[in-house]
Amino acid sequence: MPQPRLILFDIDCTLLRTDGSGMVALSQALAQVLGQPFQLSKVPPSGQTDPNIVRAMFHEAGVPMARWNELEQLVFEIYPELLEVELQARRQGARLERGVQALVDLMHEHPELRLGVLTGNLEVTARMKLEVFGLNRYFPIGAFGSDCADRNRLGPIALERARRHYGHEFLPAQTWFIGDTHHDIHAARACGSRVLAVATGSYSRDSLMEFLPDHCLEHLEETERVLELLLAV
Ligand SMILES: [Mg+2]
Repeated sequence: MPQPRLILFDIDCTLLRTDGSGMVALSQALAQVLGQPFQLSKVPPSGQTDPNIVRAMFHEAGVPMARWNELEQLVFEIYPELLEVELQARRQGARLERGVQALVDLMHEHPELRLGVLTGNLEVTARMKLEVFGLNRYFPIGAFGSDCADRNRLGPIALERARRHYGHEFLPAQTWFIGDTHHDIHAARACGSRVLAVATGSYSRDSLMEFLPDHCLEHLEETERVLELLLAV
């Protein structure tokens, strides 16, 4: 019997997109907490954890570092509620990435695959984004930005949760990360795992290839090909 593989999906621009709901809600939360409007465009969010995005926003807004922890807590207290409003308001513009529904349906039923998420979103807001498309049932475990601000430290957390949930000790080499930025590639390497990059976000296939993922695809639409890659090693 072959060893099962653990497949850890990034969320934003890998599984789905929410028409910018996350960044809009996060900047609203920040504006409320700081009592001043915030210029969203100055912070590059792709692949960052939410705590790191908020810290970059604090930096940009000139908030003294001594206040970051306290204010970050306040931001994350009101962020989920604001996100819920934005997710509903922007529902028409939200969508799954190409091929995702067919792929997770196939993977979910596959005897050699186990699924999870590894994302910079807070756990609560990750679950809210997945729920827009009814995806939570495919991903019983995950590691999140609320576990650690450093994405490179999320791999071992996901592996431990997968061990407990699936009753199997996944070796890093039997684990795949799938993501759309070089941050996903670095996070996989930091934990000794394999990585499939997908150019469905703001990075082209060529720019992702510079970070030497095991494989890089334009999208996840060729589901049989994706499965073949993940099961080959
Ligand atoms: Mg992403």
